[in-house]
Amino acid sequence: AAKRKQAGSQIYVPELDAGSQESLSLLGELRRAVEGNELRLFLQPKVDLRSGLVISAEALVRWEHPQRGLVPPMQFIPFAEQTGFIRSLTSWVLEASVQAWARAEARGQALRISVNLSTRDLLDQDLPLKIAAVLQQHRVPPQALCLEITESAIMDDPTRAMMTLEQLSAMGFKLSIDDFGTGYSSLAYLKRLPVDELKIDKSFVMAMERDLDDAKIVRSTIELAHNLGLSVVAEGLETAKTWKLLATLGCDEGQGYYVSRPMPEAEFAGWLEQWQPPDLG
Ligand code: C2E
Ligand code: CA
Ligand code: CA
Ligand code: CA
Repeated sequence: AAKRKQAGSQIYVPELDAGSQESLSLLGELRRAVEGNELRLFLQPKVDLRSGLVISAEALVRWEHPQRGLVPPMQFIPFAEQTGFIRSLTSWVLEASVQAWARAEARGQALRISVNLSTRDLLDQDLPLKIAAVLQQHRVPPQALCLEITESAIMDDPTRAMMTLEQLSAMGFKLSIDDFGTGYSSLAYLKRLPVDELKIDKSFVMAMERDLDDAKIVRSTIELAHNLGLSVVAEGLETAKTWKLLATLGCDEGQGYYVSRPMPEAEFAGWLEQWQPPDLG
């Protein structure tokens, strides 16, 4: 099987041969996971770094495997992308996220939810229509969703990606570039892409307290994003000190274990009620 491009500090995923017995059974298991309700929607809050208020949440999928327990996404997303099964998985995540938004709105907690799209999703010409259908079915406005696309997914086929992103943007979705700094980005594309937000990869954010170079990368990314009129989210926000540094640098939002780990949707509402911004002096 072909070697996959793996960005940043990702977990090693064994390369599975498309035709092998092992892959066939994993594909079968994944199908069963979607049909048999084994996927779980987890949510992780994003906060405004000035006020500390929660302003949105990212949808992160987990697989509750009957034998293997809670399986993290890096153990099946790459495989799902290779086999094309990611489209079914993305449909599941979109539907679950839209339902979660509708339930939250009914409680008066209508926070935007960010959904991750993969390379294959971007190349799917029916994607914009599929998303529109899910929204319509649940009477949810496009402003409820932000779509996160990695830098490397865009650069895989920049022309196609640009077309899809333009369509999605015109439909009213907020768009975000994920894992910024880990792919080979072209600033020429960045300038033309109809995106609203840029997420600085956690590898830089987690190292910025101790490594001056990482701090410089974070600082210049924030400047670049702001100069292009984009808001900036730092992922991998793990300490109070990092929060303060990011706020000093003018970063808009933060997401990370310091605020909360991703949690099951059912826990999110309660967590949100008790959340109090830290006093960072
Ligand atoms: P991502 O989109 O970059 O998501 C952020 C990842 O960083 C999540 O890992 C999250 O749990 C983790 N994270 C958040 N804050 C911190 C922190 O402070 N420190 C550290 N060390 N990690 C933090 P997770 O949930 O394991 O997801 C891994 C990747 O799997 C995601 O990276 C995304 O690329 C993919 N993924 C997850 N859910 C979906 C999905 O529904 N669809 C697609 N296409 N991909 C998904
Ligand atoms: Ca993401
Ligand atoms: Ca990311
Ligand atoms: Ca990542």
